Amino acid sequence: MIYDNILEAMGGTPLIRLNHMPEPESAQVLVKFEGLNVGGSIKTRTAYNMIKDAEEKGLIGEDTIIVEPTSGNQGIGLALVGAVRGYQTKIIMPDSVSEERRKLVEHYGAEVILIHDDGNIGACIEECLQTALSMAKQDSRVFVPQQFENPANPAVHRSQTGIEILEQVNGPIHGFCSGIGTGGTITGVGETIREKNPDMEIWAVEPEHAAILSGGSIGTHLQMGIGDGLIPEILNQQIYNEVCIITDEEALSTSKRLAAEEGIMCGISSGTNVAAALKLAKKLGKGKTVVTILPDTAERYFSTPLFE
Ligand code: PMP
Repeated sequence: MIYDNILEAMGGTPLIRLNHMPEPESAQVLVKFEGLNVGGSIKTRTAYNMIKDAEEKGLIGEDTIIVEPTSGNQGIGLALVGAVRGYQTKIIMPDSVSEERRKLVEHYGAEVILIHDDGNIGACIEECLQTALSMAKQDSRVFVPQQFENPANPAVHRSQTGIEILEQVNGPIHGFCSGIGTGGTITGVGETIREKNPDMEIWAVEPEHAAILSGGSIGTHLQMGIGDGLIPEILNQQIYNEVCIITDEEALSTSKRLAAEEGIMCGISSGTNVAAALKLAKKLGKGKTVVTILPDTAERYFSTPLFE
C-alpha cells in the first residue's frame, strides 16, 4: 500500500499491555503509544484535523500563515501539517519547553517565536496567545487554530483515537485516565469510550504543581504538555469521575520504568498517565481493564531530567 503523503499514514497506533509494572492483583493496563504516530505525538491528529476543518470551512487558503501558541507538540504537529499542505507556519512557545521541541518545529521549516517563562506557565501561555491574536489582528492572512477552544481538537479523538481504542480492546473497558493539556484527549476519547462502557471510571490527571482542577495553585513543573495552568474551554468537566495528582518524581520514574521494564520509550506526561493508570488498576483489581495514552516519544526529552 502506498500513502499519498505522510499525513495519510496517521493514526492506527498500537495498544500495548504492560507486563511488568502493574502489581499482581491489579487490573491489566493497556497503553496507546502515540510516540509511534506520524510526527511522534498524539498532536499530529489534532493539528491535521484543525487544518482540514479550516480548509473545509473555507477559512484558510493558499496564502494563509498558521500561527499557534503552544507548549510544544501541537507546534510540531502544525509545522508538519504546514510542510505537507504548503502553509507558512509560526509557532509561539514558552522558552521553558525542551530545546528538542523548538528544533523539531524549525526542522519542519516553521518559525519559532519564544516568550519568556518566568515560572508562571499559565501567564506565559496567555502571553503566547495574546501575541498570536495580535498578529492575526495585524495581518488578515494569519489563521490561529486555537487548540484550547477549537472543537476540531476533541472531535478527532472522538472519531479516531477513541474508536481505535474500542476496536483494539474489543471488550469492556473499566478505567481510563489522561492528563490534561487542552483537554482534547480526555474529552474526545472519554466521551467515545464511556458511551460503550457507561459504568467505567475516568480519571483526570494533574501535575502536583498545576493541580488547578483540584483547586491548587500553579507553579513550575516538569510534566510538559499538561498542567498549563488554565481550565480549557473544550474540556468536558463532566467526563471524569475523579482527579488524580501526580508528582514530577512519579512522572519521571514511571517514564523511566516504561523504557527499562517494558521497552517503551515515551515522554514525561506518558509517565504521568501510567503512574495514574497503575493506581486506577490497583483500585479496580484483577480481571478489569484500564487504558491510558502515551502522548509522545522520549526522544524529544534528551535535554530534560528524564535523561539525567
Ligand atoms: N502530553 C503531551 C506531551 C502533550 O504535548 C499534550 C498536548 N498538549 C498532552 C499530553 C495533553 O493532551 P491534550 O491537549 O489532548 O489534553
